[in-house]
Amino acid sequence: MTGTKQSEVNIGMVGHVDHGKTSLTRKLTGVWTDTHSEELKRGISIRLGYADCEIKKCPKCEGAEAYTVGTKCECGEKPEVLRKISFVDAPGHETLMATMLSGASLMDGAILVIAASETCPQPQTKEHLMALDALGVKNILIVQNKIDLVSREKAVENYDEIKEFVKGTVAEDAPIIPVSAHHGANLDILLSAIQEYIPTPKRDDTLDVRMHVARSFDVNKPGSPIKNLKGGVIGGSIIQGILETGADIEIRPGIKVVEGNKTSWKPIITKITSLGAGSKKVKEAQPGGLIGVGTELDPSLTKSDALNGSIAGKPGTLPPTLEQITIKPQLLERVVGSQDELTIEPLKTNEVLMLNVGTSTTVGITASARPEEVDIKLKLPICADKSDRVAISRKIGSRWRLIGYGLII
Ligand code: GDP
Ligand code: MG
Repeated sequence: MTGTKQSEVNIGMVGHVDHGKTSLTRKLTGVWTDTHSEELKRGISIRLGYADCEIKKCPKCEGAEAYTVGTKCECGEKPEVLRKISFVDAPGHETLMATMLSGASLMDGAILVIAASETCPQPQTKEHLMALDALGVKNILIVQNKIDLVSREKAVENYDEIKEFVKGTVAEDAPIIPVSAHHGANLDILLSAIQEYIPTPKRDDTLDVRMHVARSFDVNKPGSPIKNLKGGVIGGSIIQGILETGADIEIRPGIKVVEGNKTSWKPIITKITSLGAGSKKVKEAQPGGLIGVGTELDPSLTKSDALNGSIAGKPGTLPPTLEQITIKPQLLERVVGSQDELTIEPLKTNEVLMLNVGTSTTVGITASARPEEVDIKLKLPICADKSDRVAISRKIGSRWRLIGYGLII
């Protein structure tokens, strides 16, 4: 059995707010990823939610009906585990695009959830699909959710709208699976499609390990005695290589050091005291789902997501900390995600942009903008390699809107 294994692939749940991403994640994993008090109060996802499940197949049944996440097949037979997967539940609200973009950098594939009960596309249906395209996420499935709320004719009409909307995009050939997350209808078909369309990428274990930090925590209860204090914990996904318990780990950019009027960033080096995958402790962690890395760090360094967006790996092997980058921009034609779709003007000199690289979000000012190359001075430094992808957003009205991506040169 693979029950103790870490999940091997990250699948994004993306799409417009209220279309059913968190409900579908719960139906498939049993986990309600909205746990933060503000999320419960407002009924929307604010942070990235992670939840794991095992896709299983009945050895006796045929076709999609053989697929389940349960412990028993409908025929009574015990299903065999095929693969453990993680879902990354992204917020769909338009003000939370930066969070969605940091999540997208960890996704090996994605499920675009579209409610059949609304006309398609809604603004973030478009913006999320565009974000997947900009960040190079290619394995996409479309779930047409809430089919329990519409008539057959309405469902067909909505299906045609979806088809028309994805024409010419990265999701043009993506299968569209009608589902009711609420009633658990057609989840078996969805699971069989995940197996077929979102394979686990080939991983190269010999590459230097890189982990993108998406969350960081102080796991101690307030008032714990000092001798019982646990070190700081970082959470995220490994994108290449292997991490081992007991090994040293470097986290960059690290800590901001101000000396006189000079600011610099000092990498953090610590030891891995434990590795957690799901609720299990593991000795080694591999690329794929969420892992929690226990360290010897002072928990005040990791509390409240303070290290979000950092990169971690073996000391001395991480990409450089950059306070300025040069990118080759690829801008879109139109702004999507808002009601009026304005034409996107080229980047200008002295323009403020929001940039997402890996799980990090930073703001930068263009120092010189030429059509082919743009130099950008960053407010918060990033750790990145040449040819890494940078998602570019521009403030339009009061919101950051994704306008394209660039490759670091
Ligand atoms: P998210 O914003 O995309 O994560 O959407 P949620 O999962 O929070 O769902 C938004 C609302 O739609 C909730 O009230 C859900 O109960 C409801 N909902 C989700 N899926 C279905 C479905 O398949 N059918 C019906 N009738 N309601 C659903
Ligand atoms: Mg949600």
